[in-house]
Amino acid sequence: MKPFMPDLVYFEPDALKYPLGQELHEKFSALGTPVKITPSHNRITDLPGSTELEKYRIAKRTLVVGIRKTLKFEPSKPSAEYAIPLATGCMGHCHYCYLQTTLGNRPYIRVYVNLEEIFAQAQKYIDERAPEITRFEAACTSDPVGIEHLTGSLKKAIEFIATQPLGRLRFVTKFAHVDPLLDADHRGHTRFRFSVNADYVINQMEPATSPLSDRIEAAKKVAAAGYPLGFIIAPIMIFDGWEEQYASLIRRLAEALPPDLPDLTFELITHRYTATAKRIIEERYPKTKLAMNEEERKKKWGRYGRVKYVYPDEPMREIKEKIPAWLKASFPNAEISYIT
Ligand code: SF4
Repeated sequence: MKPFMPDLVYFEPDALKYPLGQELHEKFSALGTPVKITPSHNRITDLPGSTELEKYRIAKRTLVVGIRKTLKFEPSKPSAEYAIPLATGCMGHCHYCYLQTTLGNRPYIRVYVNLEEIFAQAQKYIDERAPEITRFEAACTSDPVGIEHLTGSLKKAIEFIATQPLGRLRFVTKFAHVDPLLDADHRGHTRFRFSVNADYVINQMEPATSPLSDRIEAAKKVAAAGYPLGFIIAPIMIFDGWEEQYASLIRRLAEALPPDLPDLTFELITHRYTATAKRIIEERYPKTKLAMNEEERKKKWGRYGRVKYVYPDEPMREIKEKIPAWLKASFPNAEISYIT
């Protein structure tokens, strides 16, 4: 799978005052990619496309280069204290992706060029929490590895956090294009995680992302580069043959990775959805194999009275027993950070 190249690029005029904005403008102009100007990265009103679905697909191939004005970072529990905003949006088409609901009608990919201001804000958060460690998650609203070959922002963030004794960075990706990050001076402050899943889920529900075999090869390179490594198995789904497929996924990881990785973590998240997500997913991916049948689910009330549909107790218990047991057998020294 080739690294992503946008079909259309918008710039905020002020973004051109920053070196990264200039660099991106020169790059896309030289490539002949159509370039437009927009007053705000939050309001792109003239995207091509005659139907909502067509506009959505075009938006997923549109890059918007802007300035991050809101420098208040969102919280990012349980895996970090704050979300560090390097980008918003993703070119992947994972049917279950929560960005479908959180980004609403702005699914285009926004990248922010005022990195110095973003890092200065991260520094403030680190200072406020001293002597505690402050962890930043860079993949809350996008997949930053998938656009790294265009911006180089993640490498800069990794090298900024490397200089912070009390700062840590983490992100997760479904893309295998890790080469630009392998020589980053990370000093062990960044946890590089890959999102992996059963073949059925990847093949049926994760179009426009790297195949599992490529993600595993990339994870090997990342481990060899000395990064603390992690895997997120999510969303874990129940389907015909789920047990064999998840067991086989864990075997493949164990065969590929060195047996004695010093710092390896797993995060496990079962599939859940809201009624709003279901409506949007069915509009955007009408043929999806993603099972969202309320009769086969249990209701769980979240914050603000929002209802999520999760697996009922019995299948949930099976997932929570079996997957950690397989992981412990294959990776006795790894940490299972959480299962939810
Ligand atoms: S790669 Fe991640 S962020 Fe991108 S569409 Fe898939 S789940 Fe969403």
